[in-house]
Amino acid sequence: MTVFDRNPVPGGMLTMGIPSFRLEKDVVEAEIDILREMGVEFKCGVEVGKDVTIQQLREEGYQGFYLAIGAQKSASLRVPGEDLEGVWGGVDFLREVNLGRKAEIGKKVAVVGGGNVAIDVARTAIRQGAERVTVLYRRGEAEMPADPDEVAEAREEGVEFRFLAAPAEILGKKRVAAIKVERMELGEPDEKGRRSPVSTGEFDELTVDSVIGAVGQVVDWGELDTGDLVRGKKNLAEADAITYQSAQPDIFVGGDCYSGPKFAIDAIAAVREGAISLHRYVHPGNSLTLSRNPRDFVALDKDNLELDPECFDRPARQQVRHDKRKVKTMHDDRLPFTEEQVKAEASRRCLGCGATYVDQNRCLGCGICTTRCKFDAIHLVRNHPEFANYYNGDHSKEIVMLSGVKRAGHIAIKELKKAVARK
Ligand SMILES: Cc1cc2nc3c(=O)[nH]c(=O)nc-3n(C[C@H](O)[C@H](O)[C@H](O)COP(=O)(O)OP(=O)(O)OC[C@H]3O[C@@H](n4cnc5c(N)ncnc54)[C@H](O)[C@@H]3O)c2cc1C
Repeated sequence: MTVFDRNPVPGGMLTMGIPSFRLEKDVVEAEIDILREMGVEFKCGVEVGKDVTIQQLREEGYQGFYLAIGAQKSASLRVPGEDLEGVWGGVDFLREVNLGRKAEIGKKVAVVGGGNVAIDVARTAIRQGAERVTVLYRRGEAEMPADPDEVAEAREEGVEFRFLAAPAEILGKKRVAAIKVERMELGEPDEKGRRSPVSTGEFDELTVDSVIGAVGQVVDWGELDTGDLVRGKKNLAEADAITYQSAQPDIFVGGDCYSGPKFAIDAIAAVREGAISLHRYVHPGNSLTLSRNPRDFVALDKDNLELDPECFDRPARQQVRHDKRKVKTMHDDRLPFTEEQVKAEASRRCLGCGATYVDQNRCLGCGICTTRCKFDAIHLVRNHPEFANYYNGDHSKEIVMLSGVKRAGHIAIKELKKAVARK
């Protein structure tokens, strides 16, 4: 098995995107070393489609392919002046830094976007020596998709935020000198429920040395010879949702170039299924679909819960502590939890049995459920003694005796029938 990667090192966005202060590179390298030991060969610096084509690889004997080329290109800001020197795409800037190169961004930097990538970019810019980093986001803080913890950490490091601010033009002669920003207002909620930014027609300018756009990523298909593979909405690859097989039967596809930019775990889950498909594909006679898990996911309807979700998430999450010596360096400054924190964090969660709703009208109080949980997490406690009155009341003995007689009668009849049948 061979992995071809056009980057000089393997790992995709885990090595070339996510900054090392959030994911140390040696962690990823250790994982890749395990794959090497398992026999996977990595050929880096090879762009498939350009340096070698899929057709050539077929002729060399490769029988199946898994395309996981990610969403490697920064989406355009779509404003005039984007071609000036000093305008960066967010993932290009991060790649440069992750390759250990000095990105010449100057002292004043505007980062456009409101997602986690924008925050990674802003925090990396601070570490690259920028003195004033301003994140421009066209909606309000409440609408910003970035993780609030990351936003708080960015603020502590000196990143400034300007909300309801959309770039209108990047100004400068050859190099960026300023960014023209339009003030926005919040309008009606969009299809995702987030209030949309609405133009006000009021502008102002921010003097900057560089502008880094982090408004999304798109797939860079380059010159890949993908044959019949279909690209649908947003230029993403189309494939079967269970097998990940594309319209080109020997090409399987997954990760960001199939789903659009998501999380690492989504790409890992997809490639696991893709690997099962590839294994079956190259061994003739196997069905790609037989006994596959359709992974039908039904989202929890949080608005119609019978149980208060608050009762599961207590006490509050433990706060990560930081190693002050590593703050604002390219190293991960987050310290592991102390023993007390681990215990407190573990105590706040049910160990995966899931939330169980006991229907008071159906539970007989037999207690069998309490014997099933190996962790002794289920206990039977009578919360509503009034429900048990029926069994404790005046007629309880008669009811129990009557049931016993009936049951003994049934058993006797059954045994009699069996004896007759034997004769
Ligand atoms: C800045 C940033 C921060 C992120 N932070 C997180 C996070 O905290 N947690 C999380 O879960 N996810 C995070 N993500 C998302 C996560 O990194 C991606 O979802 C995941 O890496 C997608 O995996 P993939 O295999 O589909 O693509 P990628 O990781 O993008 O890998 C694609 C690979 O294909 C190679 N390639 C492309 N074209 C060719 C070609 N023609 N020939 C050969 N090779 C080619 C590229 O060089 C690259 O190595 C982050 C992403 C970014 C950009």
